[in-house]
Amino acid sequence: VSASTNEQAFADLKERLSRLSDLGRIGRVLGWDQQVMMPPGGAAARAEQLGTLGRIAHEALIDDEVGRLLEQLSGYEESLPHDSFEASLIRVARRDYEKASRVPPALSADIARAASLGHQAWLEARAESDFARFMPALERNLELKHRYVECFEPAGEAYDVLLDDFEPEMTTGEVRQVFDRLKEELVPLIAAVRDSADAVDGALAQGPFPVERQPAAVVAILTPLGFDESSWRLDPTAHPFASGSGLTDIRITTRYLEDALMGVFAGIHEFGHGLYEHGSAPELDRTPLCGGVSLGLHESQSRLWENLVGRSRPFWRRFFAVLRDAFPEALGSADADGFYRAVNKMQPSLIRVEADEVTYNLHVILRFELEQELLADRIALADLPQEWNARMDEYLGIEVPDDAQGVLQDVHWSGGIFGYFPTYALGNVMSVQIWEALRRDLTDVDDQIEAGDFAPMREWLRERLHQHGRKFTPQETLERCAGSRIDPEPYLGYLRTKVADVYGVAA
Ligand code: ZN
Repeated sequence: VSASTNEQAFADLKERLSRLSDLGRIGRVLGWDQQVMMPPGGAAARAEQLGTLGRIAHEALIDDEVGRLLEQLSGYEESLPHDSFEASLIRVARRDYEKASRVPPALSADIARAASLGHQAWLEARAESDFARFMPALERNLELKHRYVECFEPAGEAYDVLLDDFEPEMTTGEVRQVFDRLKEELVPLIAAVRDSADAVDGALAQGPFPVERQPAAVVAILTPLGFDESSWRLDPTAHPFASGSGLTDIRITTRYLEDALMGVFAGIHEFGHGLYEHGSAPELDRTPLCGGVSLGLHESQSRLWENLVGRSRPFWRRFFAVLRDAFPEALGSADADGFYRAVNKMQPSLIRVEADEVTYNLHVILRFELEQELLADRIALADLPQEWNARMDEYLGIEVPDDAQGVLQDVHWSGGIFGYFPTYALGNVMSVQIWEALRRDLTDVDDQIEAGDFAPMREWLRERLHQHGRKFTPQETLERCAGSRIDPEPYLGYLRTKVADVYGVAA
């Protein structure tokens, strides 16, 4: 095969993939619009538009010509260095193509329809706190998941297939190993903190924070972090998220509450997601290599900014004045140190999205365990609420008063999304590995944070992590950035130190 033939085939493949990238980004703008701008009456038409776009993109990806080009290019790929742009593009496109080709379009359509019906059933069941009403939809979603798993003829556990959609190439066994270690350490740590919960006054973090003053305060905090209006937007939504249509069009949202600082912390969290998307190398633009490599690594970036930076002492030495000036009623007589402790108060609670840094992981582990047991038919669907409640008691020491605040609280299962939850806690674990590597290279990070100088951190993250996009597997990417594959020990050490600092409990 001549060099020019290879170059022509590669150019053809890249052109097809750039159109796919454009379709994906159009979908993101439609999705952003749906949550930020669209009147409710647009919902039915938007669902059709997104469905049509999804079908066009799927057909374009599994086109026979894509398969033919990938086959033709396999020798070319092998002749190139593993980390080159060309080899990476062919490798990742092949993976995407092979996964998408395995699922029959009729099954994809059934899954999408069941997800939509499941969402409606879940909304009604949650409103009435009635799990039985949700059961038939959940049963249908699970049945379709079994059929989905069968498309992949898994070599190991069935759950591996589901996990792979969100954390490519990580196995259930690897996750279990990390989570068992977290559980072993965190359950007793949480019990110890629970006994001294009153040592920290959380009232400072409960407002009142008049909602109309919050957007300006959030922008004042995000701007030195790297938010700039030439490439970013910030809008309010019911559920915060990060999106955008390109490397220099990053859209984040947050939610403003009068009695909590969710507006600030969700804003910083979504900024972390946005910065990751913003940082792909320009040559990856409009290819499948652009963007974050997995949900776990994405969450490592949002958590790094939200917790490791945004809930640190130097951060609030820098920014407490911004909030005190905006909210003198709540914060006028407080100081940065008391505020730091208030925003780090740890207390077992019912709702995952409101959980603190330590207890959050147990909410995730509980879901990871139940998902595997459901998939393996080890628990009956009707027993799911009891199983949930028993584990909440065992791990967090709290009683669940009703299913709305228990098994029905999250949207994921209603949409047939299984295998996603673990990535939240994997992100926490990886965030500290990355943070420690960053601190080895930049020795005066605390001073930089307190001085409001975030450029060295941003540059380090871009160079070591963000620029690679999807070129490598998530664990290869982590290894290049932090020097090792996933390891829970740095995270556990971080949590022990933080608890000791906030509570004065022995680490
Ligand atoms: Zn996130």
